[in-house]
Amino acid sequence: MHSFDMIVIGSGPSGRRAAVQSAKLGKSVLVIEKGRRVGGVSVHTGTIPSKTLRETVLNLSGWRERGFYGRGYRVKKDIAASDLISRLHKTLDHEVEVLEHQFGRNGVKTARGEASFVSPHEIEIVGDTGERSCVRGAHILIACGTRPFRPDYVPFNGTTVFDSDEIVELPRLPRSLAVIGAGVIGVEYATIFSALDVAVTLIEPRTSFLDFIDKELIEEFVHELRDRNVALRLGAAVSSIQLSAEGRPTCRLADGRSVTSDMLLFAAGRVGATDRLNLGAAGLATDHRGRITVDPKTLQTAVPHIYAAGDVIGFPSLASTSMEQGRLAACHAFGLEPPPPPEFFPYGIYAVPEISTVGMSEEEVRKRGIPYECGVARFRETSRGHIMGLNNGMMKMIFSTETRHLLGVHIVGEGATELIHIGQAVLNLKGTIDYFIENTFNYPTLAEAYKIAGLDAWNRMVRA
Ligand SMILES: Cc1cc2nc3c(=O)[nH]c(=O)nc-3n(C[C@H](O)[C@H](O)[C@H](O)COP(=O)(O)OP(=O)(O)OC[C@H]3O[C@@H](n4cnc5c(N)ncnc54)[C@H](O)[C@@H]3O)c2cc1C
Repeated sequence: MHSFDMIVIGSGPSGRRAAVQSAKLGKSVLVIEKGRRVGGVSVHTGTIPSKTLRETVLNLSGWRERGFYGRGYRVKKDIAASDLISRLHKTLDHEVEVLEHQFGRNGVKTARGEASFVSPHEIEIVGDTGERSCVRGAHILIACGTRPFRPDYVPFNGTTVFDSDEIVELPRLPRSLAVIGAGVIGVEYATIFSALDVAVTLIEPRTSFLDFIDKELIEEFVHELRDRNVALRLGAAVSSIQLSAEGRPTCRLADGRSVTSDMLLFAAGRVGATDRLNLGAAGLATDHRGRITVDPKTLQTAVPHIYAAGDVIGFPSLASTSMEQGRLAACHAFGLEPPPPPEFFPYGIYAVPEISTVGMSEEEVRKRGIPYECGVARFRETSRGHIMGLNNGMMKMIFSTETRHLLGVHIVGEGATELIHIGQAVLNLKGTIDYFIENTFNYPTLAEAYKIAGLDAWNRMVRA
């Protein structure tokens, strides 16, 4: 039986980072991946496909130019599913190639097959054709991620009713789409398809959505969606879904209304992909959503040499944070004690328009009783915004009036997910409003919004 210093189950962001970090520390590493190619949900069905789809849609639809040329403007007249998928495959091939090269360069071994525990240190690998082998690990990282939650009442068929893993390989473009679940994934896909002029209805049982985002930002976002005719059905639980003879889904809502569309995307939750790991043999168990509990500082499970990272440990379930967790787990396993992670990490929601946020929302600041002031900038106030033809987009910053510290940055609009990192740096370096007042920003840029929002808050603070 082959032995390794580190065995990683799953080659998504957390597994990949843990494997490479372990190898860089001179350890022998095996990554076991049951998928056809390495990369995980992130590369094959989640982050990268959805972001590639978004970029392709924005490019082919001419979305970014519509501020100048009107809503009817198109770069390509008849956009087909094949246009979207061909670019997707090219991007994914490139991602996989880079990852394989990274593993190869660092001497990380890979095995294709499904892993399950035989004992706390032994893993069985079952290949596609049923061949079995067993490996032993001094340390093991469970980085198996999640899969879409597929409740029985949803008639998934892969042609008109999809989960969020299937939607990336859409057979054709629908005229209308219903999306169940206004979480990050549902909102991203709803707005991407709406940018293609697909008639989208977003259905959410709760009366609000993306509750962790600053409310003022969500109001701005909702205003933009309504302006584009995205139908929001909030507070509307789905009581049943029926398919017509042609496969058109009709969602019957608990409030008595119904939504019929060409296609339906069910994007309400994911569950840990742990059911086939035989965790009992390792002395481990999961919660009701298949998730594993770890010590958040060390990423160790209840069995100290077994770590878990990425979506399988739950919140925040981002590729960005998963990578960091994988690296931290590997460092801890091999005796390095990295400093604790910074207090705040950014969220990026790649909807159309983008939303990004770091630090406390205004609601959170109020709840904590911190005296504060806000500053707001609209992208249409910036020269770069004029040049780009932006009609919308805003940045909001929140500062403590006692300490002048930056407490939170919230952005909706073009480039939000890139712009946020300036705010993140100031926030985690414990910077104050003075950074934005005293520093010069490149002109014309969207980053100038930081200066405008900073001055807006500063002027209010001075007046007060
Ligand atoms: C539609 C969508 C969009 C997203 N967009 C973003 C985004 O914009 N930004 C962001 O930061 N995050 C985004 N995410 C979240 C991000 O994809 C996840 O946080 C990330 O992929 C989790 O990484 P992971 O390390 O848990 O592994 P995963 O990427 O979940 O991969 C796990 C791997 O483990 C393998 N595996 C599972 N069980 C076994 C087994 N028994 N044996 C062998 N292999 C196994 C699986 O085949 C899979 O390849 C998105 C997710 C989705 C679904």
